Amino acid sequence: GATVVVFRDDLRVADNPALTMAVDRGAPVIALYVRDEVSPGIRPLGAASKWWLHQSLASLQLSVAELGIPFVLRSGPALRVVPEVVAETGATAVLWNRRYGAGEIAVDTQLKAHLREDGIQAESFQASLLFEPWTIATGAGTPYSVFTPFWRACRGGPEPRHPLPVPGRAAGPPTVVATELLADWALQPTRPDWAQGLRDTWTPGEDAAWARLHSFISDDLDEYAQGRDVPGRQVTSRLSPHLRWGELSAHQIWHEVGRVRAGLSALAAEGATRFLTEVGWREFSWHVLFHFPDLAERNWRADYDKFPWPALDRNALEAWQQGRTGVPLVDAGMRELWHTGTMHNRVRMVVASFLTKNLLIDWREGERWFWDTLVDADAAANPFNWQWVAGSGADAAPYFRVFNPELQAKKFDPHGVYIRRHLPDWDTPDYPDAVVDLAASRRAALSAYQSLREQS
Ligand code: FAD
Repeated sequence: GATVVVFRDDLRVADNPALTMAVDRGAPVIALYVRDEVSPGIRPLGAASKWWLHQSLASLQLSVAELGIPFVLRSGPALRVVPEVVAETGATAVLWNRRYGAGEIAVDTQLKAHLREDGIQAESFQASLLFEPWTIATGAGTPYSVFTPFWRACRGGPEPRHPLPVPGRAAGPPTVVATELLADWALQPTRPDWAQGLRDTWTPGEDAAWARLHSFISDDLDEYAQGRDVPGRQVTSRLSPHLRWGELSAHQIWHEVGRVRAGLSALAAEGATRFLTEVGWREFSWHVLFHFPDLAERNWRADYDKFPWPALDRNALEAWQQGRTGVPLVDAGMRELWHTGTMHNRVRMVVASFLTKNLLIDWREGERWFWDTLVDADAAANPFNWQWVAGSGADAAPYFRVFNPELQAKKFDPHGVYIRRHLPDWDTPDYPDAVVDLAASRRAALSAYQSLREQS
């Protein structure tokens, strides 16, 4: 019987263990993408993510077709939709790559049990993480809460497996299966169409992800270690959305860097180590999320539950969202985000610190805004990093570390290259005054934090 491969956060044909296993079974293969916004515990996608998903599915559809595999789109709860497709096609096996969020794990576990009860082979594979969360533990058997020993433990184990090549063509003539139309899913904005900046900035899909990796390695790796904190220079990989959607896997990155390493200059080799460490932070966020599933809702450090957040100041939140706080580096970052669906990492830290510590707005408000506007919005990395900046997270910066956005700008954007790029009205009479006094709001934040310390 045929094999159904369920695609989710793994929108690629190379290094896709579920797809390769399906082709290897020697029967016809059906590629299925289920748009599931209704199963409990699954976080609905933000607007920028939907835009990316549309482009990425359109690209995947073509590469899957080249393998003689029909691409089927269906909406609804996976627990209903997958068995329906199995019944329609007479498939005898369903394969997928694993996910690590609690809601997703619950769905996949039930699906596996349900299919197996019906005598269908159901198997899952490791594809999106180099180190699955339950395989890495401290000497005491507990999850890691600090990055450095976590990453040391990861690197101390066996080398991650080599990536798989694109499989050959699937057996038999393609099965005819009814599919919904991507255009009907209305994932892209229409009225208004705010996605022009996204189109100008990004090319989603597997081919573009590889092109990005190669140009990063050849052009930027030697500048990465020194330049990665300078937002005016574009020397980071910009691979985060490709990784988020699984157009490229961490295994492919790991081994591609390994393959070129011997020929690298000393500077580029330093860049390579640093770059793989950043990929390690992605692994660590998923490790933390797996062991603390409600990372986007709950303080990882419970003592922060008592933090005295004042009543939400909606005007201040909107000024932050729209990039008109009157603080140039913050506004430049928020406008970069709105326009392009991304923001440089250094600036993400600055705008997050500004929201939580100068505006005293709960980190969850910021996390939600990023979730809606980032093309790389990631269920683990986003809340993990928000909590990291807020001070409530794993291995977090201490709360009293308040970034001073003016000093940050002087240090990392000394000539205003980044600010001017995203904030054309800077230095004009139209540019607003700062919504808060930086020094006074910093003192207020520290005294709120002090009250927390005194309570515990
Ligand atoms: P590079 O420097 O080239 O790094 C390579 C890869 O490593 C990235 O593509 C990414 O997958 C991973 N990575 C790098 N830094 C981190 C990090 N701190 N945590 C986890 N993974 C990391 N990253 C996301 O992928 N999705 C998010 O939703 C997200 N939200 C963030 C929110 C805040 C408040 C902050 C401070 C950071 C957030 N990050 C998030 C992390 C980081 O800013 C981005 O991964 C990075 O800017 C992406 O650019 P790049 O691909 O050029 O990174």
